Amino acid sequence: MLETMGPFEAVTHFFNRAADLDNLSDSERAVLAGTYRELRVQIPVWRDDGRLDVFAGFRVQHNGARGPYKGGIRYHPTAILEEVRALAALMTWKTAVVDIPFGGAKGGIEVDPKPMSMGELERMTRTYTSQIGLLLGPNRDIPAPDVNTNAQTMAWIMDQYGRKYGHTPEIVTGKPIALGGSYGRDAATGRGAVIAMHEAVRETGLAPDRCRIAIQGFGNVGSWAAQIAYESGYRVVAVSDSQGGVYQEDGIDIPKLVGYQIETSTVNGFPGTEPISNEHLLELPVEVLMPAALGHVINTANVHRVRCRILVEGANYPVTPQADQVLSDQGVLIVPDILANAGGVIVSYFEWTQNIQQFRWEEDLVNGRLTNRMVSAYRRIRAFAEAKGISLREAAYAIAVRSVSEASHLRGYI
Ligand code: NAD
Repeated sequence: MLETMGPFEAVTHFFNRAADLDNLSDSERAVLAGTYRELRVQIPVWRDDGRLDVFAGFRVQHNGARGPYKGGIRYHPTAILEEVRALAALMTWKTAVVDIPFGGAKGGIEVDPKPMSMGELERMTRTYTSQIGLLLGPNRDIPAPDVNTNAQTMAWIMDQYGRKYGHTPEIVTGKPIALGGSYGRDAATGRGAVIAMHEAVRETGLAPDRCRIAIQGFGNVGSWAAQIAYESGYRVVAVSDSQGGVYQEDGIDIPKLVGYQIETSTVNGFPGTEPISNEHLLELPVEVLMPAALGHVINTANVHRVRCRILVEGANYPVTPQADQVLSDQGVLIVPDILANAGGVIVSYFEWTQNIQQFRWEEDLVNGRLTNRMVSAYRRIRAFAEAKGISLREAAYAIAVRSVSEASHLRGYI
């Protein structure tokens, strides 16, 4: 049964379908599907009360044929090796499908960072950076933010790396602007998801102002996607975070909600809305559903109750392979994660190039180039899907696998 697959197996499942299209051999598949390198490190952290806690940290490099390894760092209790490995593989296919010159990696610490003080988070981040430092480098492996990490986390990583190697802003992306971050990086993943969503909406002939959108997760990806969708005339009817969600049929005033969330640290209880659970949000009758929190939230247990027309995967791997099949059979248009949330890594690439050039781009230039890359990737994938009679996800993987396979052949890896 597909549902019994772990996350890495699930990514490999989509990879294999693409490999079938190109008749890749077993040995080519073994190299391309497997991870190149996996590091597990011990992270002892002195807590403010004098206790010593020990956490497990990981950095997984999946494939570097197309360029330096690239991928975010996640602090979460589910950031175990298997999960990080799957996310690293997704990065390989993501950087390839949007044609930026990076490979795929991911890092994580198996920890709940919510109760930690800033001092504890800083000590943990610095120790983790030192432990995985032997793998990092601006031409080797470049981290970025992911769940529960942010620009401040990247500043600590840059500083810790710099203590050994000298000032190296291009060692991480998603940095604060004051330390060489790029304008537009913070909003880039959400903005990219809305650009991809807009292409899907156009294709289905829907009018943006008639589109109801439900977004699960109101962190970096979800909150920016909500704001940009709202500014673009869409009706965002539901959003949620880990504490629950809010619903308003006529559309939520997103700028006001952002202010409320900054004050209260949650969307819960926003005046003028009804409460809604995270489970129910996924089942709302809406034109667009955007899961933008964690993985495998749509699975065999709830897929039959999902009622959207378009599903935009803001999060990584929010739909299990079996649920993907059910939704595709129902005619739901799925914009797959490796395209839908690629905006972040695209602008990370812009940030890296700005750091190397030591020349900052204006925000309009960043956003314009992001839009061009997202739209051209969407249309290229759509054209391939039409030509082969396959889904957008199958087409995205096919293009990505072909690109990584070609680079691997040229280098003599396979
Ligand atoms: P984040 O930590 O900023 O936000 C996560 C959000 O999800 C928060 O609102 C949190 O409350 C909510 N959440 C957590 N557990 C939940 C649950 N059980 N139910 C509902 N909501 C829950 O993280 P992020 O950077 O926005 O990342 C979200 C997703 O997008 C992840 O899958 C991540 O891998 C993916 N992604 C992020 C980026 C990026 O640039 N940040 C890029 C590509 C993909």
